[in-house]
Amino acid sequence: MNVRDSEIILGMLKEKGYAPVSKPDQAELVLFNTCSVRQHAEERVWGQAGMIKKRGARPVIGIVGCMAQNYQEQIFRRLPQVDFVCGPANIYDIPLLIEKALKEHSQLLAVNMEKRPLLCDNGYRISNLKAFVSIMYGCNNFCSYCIVPYVRGREVSRPLRHILAEVQDLAARGFKEITLLGQNVNSYGKDLPGPLNFVRLLENLDRIKGIERIRFVTSHPKDATPELFKAMRNLASVCEHLHLPLQAGSDKILHMMNRNYTLKDYLKLVDVLRRQVPDSAISTDIIVGFPGETEKDFKKTEQAMKDIQFDEAFVFKYSPRFKTKAAEFKDDVSNKKKLQRNHRLLELQGAISLKKNKHIIGSTEEVLAEGKGSYFQGAKKKQAVLGRSRSNKVTLFPGKMDLISKLVRVRIKRTTAHTLIGEVDDKKN
Ligand code: SAH
Ligand code: SF4
Repeated sequence: MNVRDSEIILGMLKEKGYAPVSKPDQAELVLFNTCSVRQHAEERVWGQAGMIKKRGARPVIGIVGCMAQNYQEQIFRRLPQVDFVCGPANIYDIPLLIEKALKEHSQLLAVNMEKRPLLCDNGYRISNLKAFVSIMYGCNNFCSYCIVPYVRGREVSRPLRHILAEVQDLAARGFKEITLLGQNVNSYGKDLPGPLNFVRLLENLDRIKGIERIRFVTSHPKDATPELFKAMRNLASVCEHLHLPLQAGSDKILHMMNRNYTLKDYLKLVDVLRRQVPDSAISTDIIVGFPGETEKDFKKTEQAMKDIQFDEAFVFKYSPRFKTKAAEFKDDVSNKKKLQRNHRLLELQGAISLKKNKHIIGSTEEVLAEGKGSYFQGAKKKQAVLGRSRSNKVTLFPGKMDLISKLVRVRIKRTTAHTLIGEVDDKKN
């Protein structure tokens, strides 16, 4: 989501004549687009922004995004060199804020959460092949650990016609893949009049010629439906990959997290998905060290991961977030234990990912070639084309760089936990 916001900001700056420089001390303008989801992300911004030194009135310094919304004028107290603080809903004000900062030399605050415009595409994209498309903003779920509803506000869906116009434009410009973005894409349309929902949106987008692949993040288990899984099976451009955060395997912890499902509900969903879309990949998010997580609770997460066999898992150490319900609970799992649990799960998942990838050896995957990469054959480093399979696995294969931006059939020869390595399948291209 921040990458997409940064892209919009870059587009506006380009229109104003700004161009990127390679080192911060050469810049006339330094913006930090920030994330508040975990403490670590915030610490990096406090540290890095603190290191930007002013030479007179330059550079103009802005703190943008969730930390701006979260800390507001506190930022000016901690970082007096900052010229403006701009929340995620106000990013369209950035050109104006820069102009004002240059004229007035006063500290400016733009944190009006109601202001987010829904027609939000200035055409600028970092890639010319794959694009993020925001379909909604905010979140209504209030998972007890999560700051998102406080810094991004309540759910607002963009009107269908805006999204369709944006994707039609991308298709006309030659884009092949889109990733739909929302904190909980399954609840798309609930705030709009009429029968529109996420599956209807997918059906509409699937009809747009030229868009070969549609991905989406994130789906909340409580709103993921068999209807969605059917759409994944039946709509040609919708990729067979679901990111479905489990967060924890213990029902006690899930309840304390306010996730509104049990492990049993989750297992049932996975079962239905795998019956509907047998070759579907599933990835997940897990939090370790949530308040009250005992070794027994943690073992339930481990067991759930063994039972489910995810293709990929992102594991996070819990950090208390100001304003959230869980911040009232005692953060009673030590950092050392959080780290150990984090390592244990990453190790477990590494072995599972490798085992799952080994099953793919010998099969032919459709890969969207995106750029250059390399891999080792023995001690020798080999240049390769890099892309992703429909199930979102990074795939490398030797080939000419003019394959980039094409869909290539690749026969998988070997694999690591995170990468498939193959060669162009001449029979199937
Ligand atoms: N809306 C998405 C993404 C939310 S943030 C979703 O519901 O999945 C991405 C991930 O960050 C979450 O899934 C969660 O695993 C993690 N996360 C959120 N708050 C956290 C916190 N306070 N400490 C550690 N991890 C957190
Ligand atoms: Fe945060 Fe939960 Fe909303 Fe995801 S669904 S953004 S974890 S409150």
